[in-house]
Amino acid sequence: MTLISNSLAVVDIATTLHPNTNLRQHERTGPLVIDRGDGIRVYDDRGKEYIEGLAGLWSVAVGFSEKRLADAAYKQMLKLPYYHTFSSKANEPSIRLAEKLIEMTPSNLTRVFYTSSGSEANDTIVKMVWYMNNALGRPQKKKFLARTKGYHGITIASGSLTGLPGNHRDFDLPAIPVRHLTCPHFYRFGMEGEDEAAFTARLLAELEAVIAEEDADTIAAFIGEPLMSAGGVLPPPAGYWEGVERICRANDILLVSDEVICGFGRLGTPFGCQKYGFTPDIMTLSKQITSSYMPLAAVVFSEAIYDAIADNSEKIGNFGHGFTASGHPVATAVALENLAIIEENDLMGNAVRLEAQFQAGLKSFADHPLVGEARGAGLIGALELVSDKNTRKPFEKIGRAGALASGIGHDEGLIFRAIGDQLALCPPLIVTSSDISEIITRLGRTLDRLPAAIA
Ligand code: PLP
Repeated sequence: MTLISNSLAVVDIATTLHPNTNLRQHERTGPLVIDRGDGIRVYDDRGKEYIEGLAGLWSVAVGFSEKRLADAAYKQMLKLPYYHTFSSKANEPSIRLAEKLIEMTPSNLTRVFYTSSGSEANDTIVKMVWYMNNALGRPQKKKFLARTKGYHGITIASGSLTGLPGNHRDFDLPAIPVRHLTCPHFYRFGMEGEDEAAFTARLLAELEAVIAEEDADTIAAFIGEPLMSAGGVLPPPAGYWEGVERICRANDILLVSDEVICGFGRLGTPFGCQKYGFTPDIMTLSKQITSSYMPLAAVVFSEAIYDAIADNSEKIGNFGHGFTASGHPVATAVALENLAIIEENDLMGNAVRLEAQFQAGLKSFADHPLVGEARGAGLIGALELVSDKNTRKPFEKIGRAGALASGIGHDEGLIFRAIGDQLALCPPLIVTSSDISEIITRLGRTLDRLPAAIA
């Protein structure tokens, strides 16, 4: 951990409530003040270099110094820095981006709604689906199905869909009707004597049982990340998503693919649903949409949902939902340029080409005495630290080993995310083969030093 060392840090401690932070500990250790970026690297305010092994928050596809995005923002700011999209107003970048997103996503998705964050986008989905079902004369069809360890954001509705205790506790969440199903992570949730196929079958049987218990007429939608990310980088077992889609279709339950991290090539396919073979009715997009240079998210959805909402808006006189920044011209102009860079440089192809090297690099630590599981897909992965490899026993104090690893990682010049005792990596899509070797080398040095730190 960085020691409090300069005036910026002192002011930060005195003024700022940091998200997702142990605040009293933060007061003692201070922030890591990141000062500038260059490619896959960032530098702190003392000039120390780090490889950003998590692409910021799983999001900076094009790296930290893409001048084309700065130019796109500057040009748009000079031309039209802001306009809204309420009451039939529109602007060119948001129109062009909607067209682009519809072209890129599966063909049944034909409509776009903009927000500034993934949380707002998932809140919007809840409200859209409720509004739609009221309009269709089925006001009882309101419940959501989600999964333990899923992450969909932190606002009241999206935070309710999230299945992580740390995002619920003392926030009085969940606050909307939601059932969290078993997390589809075989290593942790598979039972003794169960193989992966039997695990999938059990999860699908659970889904059918919950639908029967709740009554399909009361369930609006199932939401999931194709590969759960913030919950610890948890690839689903084979056959899981095909089964979920089949059961949702049979019960008239909408399927929502939260692509906030998987979208735009992270797993080697344009969207995560394509990797796992399902077609959603609604998609949530954010993060790599602008490489996080500007805050932006989008809900992309089917014509049938649009029609029900549009008819109702005429009946009521208004679709009474929207944000000041919905369709922000600067954010959408940056997204268009960012998606052009991803295409021109074949960054999605880069994830395909480098997947084997990256995943093999992580797997090379599978024999380390502290590593229980090395896992991932495309250019996202994690190491799960355990106190006993044979029994998969977690550490007594969850998060201590992860925090120690994170601190050593900083020392070694590598930023990754410790999720409890799971070390998550998700480098910018611009990484090269030699960058990956360097990431694996620095991670290896971190693991070499970890046992002594834990003892
Ligand atoms: N959905 C997923 C899958 C995410 O990973 C995240 C954030 O990490 C969100 C939604 C929430 O996005 P935001 O932090 O922009 O509100």
